[in-house]
Amino acid sequence: MSATAQRAGGSRLPLRAAAFVVLTCATILGVSGWREWAARDAVLRGAETEMANVARSLTQHAEDSFDLLDSGVVGVVSRLEMDGTGPATIAKLGNVLEVRRKAVPRIHGIAVIDDRGNWLTSPGTVGSTLSDDAFFRYHQLSPKREAYVGRPVKSLLEGEWVVTLSRRFDKPDGSFGGVVLATISSNYLAHFYEQFEIGRNNSATLVHGDGLIIARNPSNDKFVGRSVADTALFRDASLQRPSGVYHFKSPLDGAERLSFFKRSSRYPLVLLATLDEEELLAPWRAAAISRMLYVFALVMLIAVIGAVLVRQLQRGQRMAAALVEKEAHFRLLAEGSSDMVTSIALDDRLRYVSPSSVRVVGWRANQLIGTPALAGINPEDLPEVQATIDAMKRGDREEARFTYRHSHRQNGEVWLESTMRVTRKDNGRVDGVVAITRDITEQKKLETRLETLAIEDSLTGLANRRRFDERLKEEWARAYRDRSSLALLMIDVDHFKAYNDEYGHPAGDACLRLVAKIIAAETQRTGDLAARYGGEEFAMLLPNTDAAGCTLVGERIRSAIHEAGLVHATNPESGCVTASVGGATCRPALERTAGVSSLVEAADRALYAAKDAGRDRLMMSGELMNLLPRASGQ
Ligand code: GH3
Ligand code: MG
Ligand code: MG
Repeated sequence: MSATAQRAGGSRLPLRAAAFVVLTCATILGVSGWREWAARDAVLRGAETEMANVARSLTQHAEDSFDLLDSGVVGVVSRLEMDGTGPATIAKLGNVLEVRRKAVPRIHGIAVIDDRGNWLTSPGTVGSTLSDDAFFRYHQLSPKREAYVGRPVKSLLEGEWVVTLSRRFDKPDGSFGGVVLATISSNYLAHFYEQFEIGRNNSATLVHGDGLIIARNPSNDKFVGRSVADTALFRDASLQRPSGVYHFKSPLDGAERLSFFKRSSRYPLVLLATLDEEELLAPWRAAAISRMLYVFALVMLIAVIGAVLVRQLQRGQRMAAALVEKEAHFRLLAEGSSDMVTSIALDDRLRYVSPSSVRVVGWRANQLIGTPALAGINPEDLPEVQATIDAMKRGDREEARFTYRHSHRQNGEVWLESTMRVTRKDNGRVDGVVAITRDITEQKKLETRLETLAIEDSLTGLANRRRFDERLKEEWARAYRDRSSLALLMIDVDHFKAYNDEYGHPAGDACLRLVAKIIAAETQRTGDLAARYGGEEFAMLLPNTDAAGCTLVGERIRSAIHEAGLVHATNPESGCVTASVGGATCRPALERTAGVSSLVEAADRALYAAKDAGRDRLMMSGELMNLLPRASGQ
């Protein structure tokens, strides 16, 4: 995967996480909602089954009731057809019917009506005729002998709602003899329905085939006789089946209702068991709401936690991007610099090396990482570097700068300068040292050269006058401390002006270099210092040397110059280059009045004495004492 694609994938991560959280929440909500809907469905299915059972048993009850009425009616019809409608028969029949009516509460009334519509048995009202009633006209006109269930009517006697079941009976000649009528009370049925606990807003209704309500529980009085002929139950073609379920909105209160209907197969009766959906679903709704509240709370919790995590993810990504950018900058700095940047771990191994290591130590960064950081340091410099780094690791020092020698892969030994600084973890504990190292070999060479220039005479390579003065003071102090003797020789080339004049200045220089070389060869002890004092005059400082030693060295120098045999034609004494030497010694601790300048003056005086004495000789200042009285004596 390319870096850009990775970055793009990375930046989409919070979006994906957010999508995941949303999906999770939506799934939880969806599954919970679906389960609640399924639970609601189960409640409705259960209620439908219950209603179906109620409707079936009430239909059965209605059919049984009408069967009971019918069996009574059939009995009376056969009696009338056998015995006729004479007064004696009617009177006897009247009693039997009254007894039967009282014995069977389901039978509200049973009576005989003659062929003109008059009551033959009670409870007829005197003078009233039933000749216009539907059931009467039906039997009068139809020869059919089966039972006829009439529409609910209000009983003329008590004003109570009843349903009639009637059959015609024939006269012996086969003509219409009249009607036997049995009635069942709407109230009886309604009371019976009360036994079924079907809920406050639910109802059981028996409807006549033509749409008039026969009985209803509850509120029978309010509904009996009302027509529902124009409702879906009677109008909707899909509902014209023996039984079934249908949902409707109550025209009375606008509430959703669920009904199970069952049509009787034998009588024009429809039983309707109706449930108030609102009431039915109320327990489910309450439980579902509380469950959904939990689910909502859970979803909100997930959403909030998700949002926080997504926010943190975004922040983390931003920080990581910033870190990458920052690191890129630092890397650019470290890797673009000509200085070598290294990071040294607590185990003294290199954990980071910038590419300029190739230039500084000759090794590539990958060859150095993991190796000991101090491996190439010159053993003489190592202890100091090691001690400093150890102090930094202990936290005793924050930073340090030192120069040291280090082996270079190709260039032998180089001088390096390192600036080191402690690195710390977030908790403040030291976790290593970072070093910026540069090659200072050239600088070091220059320094050395400058140092040399400062103390060296450029023509002869001996110590210059400055260096001589310094060393003289030092050695004077040391001799004072050690109570030792310090000797000084002053050497001056004889007739050198003439040499220059004769051979030219460059030859004069060459001569001076040769003399210097001869003098330098005589510096046999480490403390001895040969210097060019000025012009063609040299000095030799001999620490811890007495007059005898000084004489010895002075004489050796003088003779060595002479024996070098450098031609000097204008030197009248010898014809070769010679020098006069004046020597002086001193014990600073014993000679309180003496000083640095007095030693030089003494040696100088001895030198001039040697000149005076004829040149090419050594004269010690001590010898001057012997000379002086003689001189003063002359
Ligand atoms: P004496 O024997 O008395 O010492 O005589 P001299 O000629 O050596 O003494 P003087 O002091 O008169 O002359 C010193 C000469 O040394 C003068 C100068 O030209 C010469 N001289 C001094 N420094 C240099 C130098 O660096 N190079 C050359 N070629 N000549 C130098
Ligand atoms: Mg001189
Ligand atoms: Mg001279």
